[in-house]
Amino acid sequence: MHGLSLERNPIDILETGKSISDVIDGKIRQLEEPFYVVNLDNILERHLQWISLLPRVKPFYAVKCNNTTAVLKMLSALDTGFDCASKAEIELALSLGVKPDDIIYAHTTKPLSHIRYACAHRVNLMTFDNEEELLKISLVHPQAKLVIRIAVDDSKSMVRLSPKFGARLPTVRQLLERARELNLEVVGVSFHVGSGCTKSSAFRQAIEDARCVFDVASFLGFQMRLLDIGGGFSKIGDFQERFEEFSQVINGSLDEFFPPVSGLEVIAEPGRYYVESAFTLAVNVIAKRVVVEDRVSKSSELPNHHSSFRLMMYYINDGVYGSMSCITFDPAHSKLEPTVVTPAGTLNIHLTKLSIVLSEPRYRSIIWGPTCDSIDKITESYWIPELYVGDWLLVDNMGAYTVSVTTDFNSFEKAHIYTVVTAETWLALNLSRAYDTVH
Ligand code: PLP
Repeated sequence: MHGLSLERNPIDILETGKSISDVIDGKIRQLEEPFYVVNLDNILERHLQWISLLPRVKPFYAVKCNNTTAVLKMLSALDTGFDCASKAEIELALSLGVKPDDIIYAHTTKPLSHIRYACAHRVNLMTFDNEEELLKISLVHPQAKLVIRIAVDDSKSMVRLSPKFGARLPTVRQLLERARELNLEVVGVSFHVGSGCTKSSAFRQAIEDARCVFDVASFLGFQMRLLDIGGGFSKIGDFQERFEEFSQVINGSLDEFFPPVSGLEVIAEPGRYYVESAFTLAVNVIAKRVVVEDRVSKSSELPNHHSSFRLMMYYINDGVYGSMSCITFDPAHSKLEPTVVTPAGTLNIHLTKLSIVLSEPRYRSIIWGPTCDSIDKITESYWIPELYVGDWLLVDNMGAYTVSVTTDFNSFEKAHIYTVVTAETWLALNLSRAYDTVH
C-alpha cells in the first residue's frame, strides 16, 4: 500500500489481495489514538446502486452528513451534486472545484450574510418555506432560483424534520403569490420525509403532494421544472432490504405524477445512504475498572451458560462527545455494538489472544467514553469476554452524522481519518486529478 498526498486526509491505494481489515490491522499496530478507515469503494458501490435503481433522480449529497474532504472529492468525481446548508459548506464545496450549478442551498432559514455569499458565488438554487425568507432573498439575491419546501408526513421516520421545516399545503398558494409580488422565480418543490424513513408510502404521498404544488404554481404562472425528493435513505440494519422497495415506489410515483415527458429534473439530497457504511471507527481501551456486584443474578439474565457477578467497566478513547454522538441524538443510529479486535496495545498482557473464542466467559460490561461526564456511555449492558487496557474495538457503519458532529469537550483528540481506495477505482475515476488539488 502506498500513500498519496494529503495532509489532512491521506489516501492509500489498496494493494491487490489486501482488504480493509488488513489496513485496520496495520494501523492498530502503530497507533494509540482513535481512527476511522474510510472505504471509498463502498461509496462507489452505493452510487452505482443509486443510479441503477433510481435512474431519474440525480443525487445532491447532503454535506452536513459527513464533510470529509476525501468523501466530497470522491462524490464530485462521481458527478453528484451537493446539498449545502450554510456558507461554510458552500465554501468547502466550491473550494473542491464543485460548480455553483451543482449546489443546492437547501436550508429554508438562512442568515442574510450566507444568502449574500451564495449570490456572490453564483449559487442560485435555494429552498424557502416562509415569507420572511422571500423578503431576505429578494433583498440580496433577487436572481435566485427558488424551491419551495413543503412539510410532509414524516411520522414513519426515525428523525422527523417537518415539525421544524416546510410550508403546510394550505399556505403554499399565499407564499407563491408573495414570491410573484416580489418578482422572484420559483422553479421547483422539495420535501424531506425525515431521516431513517421506514415506509415507502411516505415518498409516494410526498410526491403526490408535490404534484398539487406544481399545479398551483403553474396556474400562478411559474415555470416549474425541478422536484427535490430530499433524503431519508439508508441501507444498514433493518433498512438493508428496503432501498430497492423504496426505489420502486419512488419510480412508480414519479412516472404517475410526473411522467418523463414532462421534462422535469428530479434530484434528491441523500446523506446517510452514501456514507454510513464506508466508515469504520477503531477505538482503544484506555482504562478499566472491575466492580464486584453483590446482587445475585437470575440465570435467565445470563447469555450462554456462563455466569459472573463481576461488572466490567471499560473506558475508551472516543465517545458520545466525539464520534459517537449519534447514540444520544440520532434515533436512526443510537445502538452501537463494537466488536473486539486484536489486542495490539502495548499495555496488553494477553498478546496471544487474537480473537474471541465463543466459550470464553462473558461479563456484563459497560463501555464508557473518555470524558468526565457520565452521559458519555457507549453500551449499557454488553456481554463480552474480558478486555484489557490496550485492546481495540471496531464500530462499523460510522459514516453518517459522526465526524461532522463531534465536540471539543475535554479536548480529547478527534479520531484521525485514513482513506483507502482500490487501484481499479483510483484509475477508473481518474482520482489522481481530484485528490492532487487538495491543499
Ligand atoms: N436534506 C436536508 C434538508 C436535511 O435536513 C437532511 C438531514 O437532516 C438531509 C438532506 C440528509 O438526510 P439523510 O441523511 O436522511 O439522507
